[in-house]
Amino acid sequence: MTVRSHIDALRKTLPPGVTLVAVSKFHPAETVRQAYDAGQRIFGESRVQELIAKKDLLPDDIEWHFIGRLQRNKVRQIAPFISLIHSIDSEQLLLEIEKQAAACNRTIPGLLQIHIAREKSKAGFPPDACRRFLAEGKWKASPHVQIAGVMGMATLTDDENRIRQEFRLLKSLFDELKTAYFPNDPAFREISAGMTDDYRIAIQEGSSVIRTGTLIFGER
Ligand SMILES: *Cc1c(COP(=O)(O)O)cnc(C)c1O
Repeated sequence: MTVRSHIDALRKTLPPGVTLVAVSKFHPAETVRQAYDAGQRIFGESRVQELIAKKDLLPDDIEWHFIGRLQRNKVRQIAPFISLIHSIDSEQLLLEIEKQAAACNRTIPGLLQIHIAREKSKAGFPPDACRRFLAEGKWKASPHVQIAGVMGMATLTDDENRIRQEFRLLKSLFDELKTAYFPNDPAFREISAGMTDDYRIAIQEGSSVIRTGTLIFGER
């Protein structure tokens, strides 16, 4: 099976309105190019260095999404071009994105990453911390960051019910935040949830953006 056939097969299963982010981390530019040639334009990377190096080798009309933990001191390097940052998980990071986006005269869309898994290792705002963060309102003074929704990663487990519950939690938090803070803001609309092993469940539970790597490119 080729990258193209994997992408074609995956696209056929996606309902309209669900955006596919092809997660290309650890795969070389030549492999990414195969997905590009199959029509894919949105790619996700989780390391700044790797992203910068790969971007230079690939066409300019790719939309790069940052999906991993983002260190504040690296925001400057991606601010000029990044299309969506999925992993805003602190006020400090949001403020740094604001600063760097303003410096290059851009508005950068970003998602609030929510800690929905039971595992300690997964990053993100715990739901209550996210509620407090939005209630405090300082984010309103960051006009160069467009808060476009939420992102979450479910626990790595075979227990489908648990995964489903976690995605439900993300969806209900999204609905709550939408109603409370973004009722008239059409830009707040994305739920980024679902990877290779759980994207079907994520879509059933309301995901609008899936991030799949292994399914498209094979094992890393
Ligand atoms: C690596 C990664 C993915 C893709 O995982 P696959 O299981 O390969 O589909 C999705 N989201 C994030 C945040 C990742 O780090």
